[in-house]
Amino acid sequence: MGKLKKFSDVVIIGGGIMGASVAYYLAKRGVSDVTLLERDLLAQATTGLSVGGIRQQFSHPANILLSQHSMRVFENFKDEFGEDIYFRKAGYLFLAQEEETWNDFLSSVETQRRLNVPVEVLTPEEIKRRWPFLHVDDLKGGTYGPEDGYADPYLAAMGFVDKARRLGVRILEKTEVTGIKVLGGRVRGVETTRGPISVPAVVNVAGPWAGEVARMAGLDLPVKPFRRQVFATCPFDAIPKPVPMVIDQDATFYFRGEEPNIIMGMSDQDEPSSFNTHVDREFMERVTEAAVYRAPILEKAEIIRGWGGLYTITPDDNPIIGALPGIEGFFCAIGFSGHGFQHAPAVGFIMSELIMSGRSSFDLIPFAYDRFDDIKKEGEKRVV
Ligand SMILES: Cc1cc2nc3c(=O)[nH]c(=O)nc-3n(C[C@H](O)[C@H](O)[C@H](O)COP(=O)(O)OP(=O)(O)OC[C@H]3O[C@@H](n4cnc5c(N)ncnc54)[C@H](O)[C@@H]3O)c2cc1C
Repeated sequence: MGKLKKFSDVVIIGGGIMGASVAYYLAKRGVSDVTLLERDLLAQATTGLSVGGIRQQFSHPANILLSQHSMRVFENFKDEFGEDIYFRKAGYLFLAQEEETWNDFLSSVETQRRLNVPVEVLTPEEIKRRWPFLHVDDLKGGTYGPEDGYADPYLAAMGFVDKARRLGVRILEKTEVTGIKVLGGRVRGVETTRGPISVPAVVNVAGPWAGEVARMAGLDLPVKPFRRQVFATCPFDAIPKPVPMVIDQDATFYFRGEEPNIIMGMSDQDEPSSFNTHVDREFMERVTEAAVYRAPILEKAEIIRGWGGLYTITPDDNPIIGALPGIEGFFCAIGFSGHGFQHAPAVGFIMSELIMSGRSSFDLIPFAYDRFDDIKKEGEKRVV
């Protein structure tokens, strides 16, 4: 375990991929004294449980821009970080059953194409021709992003961590932040299970626990944890490789290849917010039903493993990114609503801009902490 120093320029609260990315980009910009505190082990909470999807097919332009920046980092990850994160461009196929969903897809495609996202609009017949294992009779159509895909979130987080460490960031595991000291409207320090640290700037990247960390500074932010379960089949070669990420939007069901297996998941829209991450057998049956409906060949696959993790969700499914006015020195990158792995490179870069200069080269208005007070603004729609 590393040594705790009593002073730091910046303390990052949370050692998932978001904290690791913020640490790296701050150090890269030359902030000399950065401390990252993780109460457990690095990248073992949400990041290590993620299914690693990376895509440009978002409905909100601000999310597309985060994806495009991040994708460039993922594509060059081995060169910059010396780590192979197994980024496979197996594609992302979104499927629409309902007329309303389909019209929504088409309007997203307009936004995506305006931003030069490579995306194909497909009829059910074209989908069947390319992916004959899919049931398409009930579909209105689909959209396909050939450059989208998936990578390993744990390896990506550890790539950021290793490089940040080499640039001088102090990274401490088994060190929990238990309090944030705010005096005269500005951050003065943090209390930890290993003693206090005087610090003028803290970054809340505590994932599903971000609401609790914000409350330590007296802030009430609309981010809530919701369970998401994932199931893996036995090695399964009846579907030709590479298996794209298939998103059955109306069923909120998805599956993809995790060679040699298939992994799959679904949202339970009726489940209330909680920190529960148990695997539920009854829900597994609902997921397999959705799987066999969409890809009947999956009836032959056996589920051998399941796990539960937490999405951190905001009311409009967009994150909260930025400095919180009212408490100088309090920064947040939270509420990624299931997209935090793929957006971490861009968000780490943005946070380093904000902390260094108070400004960002990205438009952060869609991610402002106080947007929820206003009339309902359009958030992100491509969420499962
Ligand atoms: C099942 C599932 C599938 C997903 N699929 C995708 C996907 O396909 N694509 C995608 O982009 N995203 C996906 N996500 C979302 C993505 O995994 C998250 O958005 C991302 O990992 C969030 O990273 P984070 O660093 O913010 O949070 P975390 O990884 O949760 O890290 C936060 C850390 O903060 C620590 N912490 C909390 N409180 C304190 C404290 N008081 N002191 C010190 N440390 C503290 C925690 O221990 C934790 O390690 C998925 C998530 C789940 C659950």
